[in-house]
Amino acid sequence: DDAREQGHALARYQGGGEERQATLHFEAALADALNQGEFDLHYQPITDAASGLVRGAEALLRWHNPELGFRSPAEFIPVLERTGLIVPVGAWVLHEACRRASTWGGVPVAVNLSARQFQQGDLLGTVRSALQGSGLPPECLKLEITESLMIQSPERVQEILLGLRQMGVQVMLDDFGTGYSNLSLLRNIPVSGLKIDRSFVTALERGENASAQAMIRAIVQLSEALGLDTVAEGVEHAEEHQLLRDLGVTLLQGYHFAPPSATWNPEPHCPSGVVA
Ligand code: C2E
Ligand code: CA
Ligand code: CA
Ligand code: CA
Repeated sequence: DDAREQGHALARYQGGGEERQATLHFEAALADALNQGEFDLHYQPITDAASGLVRGAEALLRWHNPELGFRSPAEFIPVLERTGLIVPVGAWVLHEACRRASTWGGVPVAVNLSARQFQQGDLLGTVRSALQGSGLPPECLKLEITESLMIQSPERVQEILLGLRQMGVQVMLDDFGTGYSNLSLLRNIPVSGLKIDRSFVTALERGENASAQAMIRAIVQLSEALGLDTVAEGVEHAEEHQLLRDLGVTLLQGYHFAPPSATWNPEPHCPSGVVA
């Protein structure tokens, strides 16, 4: 009868509900994280392959919740994106990263952007106020976007990218070589560099060495022809550093140089011949 059927339905709901409960708890905690001050940025240096000098640092978002502990961006960024929370959180990231980099004496900071930030809110206004509020020169801010951004409303995205360029902010294409890499994209969107996806660097280590090298070489040639920088990410070993440098990659990033860290700062620059 009805009551029994309702009982079964409730049991089914509760049976499958534990995981659902955990998900709800996770999402509720995440929704409150910005107000609770639970986000933090870690910085990972980007190093000149030839000279070993620091040429920038990427800001990477971290979340620590007292109950849930440290959670990986791979877990919480997709939730922030799905719920739209990435718009206010991303604005916080921009302000915080610019504030921090304004103490770095000209070393640029790279900030990751999600597609949502192009679709909702006022990205150009947010970037402008992050720069003005911190006093960071626009050329010291680099924004990292991925190719998948162009799937939805490419005209709107293109307009915003042009606005950023007019402001003097540079844009890098992240995770290049995965997903939707298509060459006409590079003609149509104004980017100043390509970040070669970590999977190519990882492949150098494995049996796929020859094809990985061929692909990295091709990306470098393309970049040189277009006057773009290349950054290889996920560099973990000295041999990879050497190989990537010999392949002509200009900038390198990875645990081999430094892991992302909350306390990272560039070495104070000491002009040669001047004793500090
Ligand atoms: P990503 O932009 O590709 O960032 C590089 C990731 O590689 C980071 O992971 C970094 O910690 C990790 N990594 C750096 N060096 C090495 C290495 O030598 N070996 C290995 N195995 N990994 C290395 P993380 O910090 O976990 O971030 C994951 C992703 O989350 C980022 O990938 C980015 O897509 C996203 N993300 C992080 N912070 C933000 C943010 O502020 N906003 C947005 N929209 N996305 C963010
Ligand atoms: Ca990135
Ligand atoms: Ca990347
Ligand atoms: Ca990635």
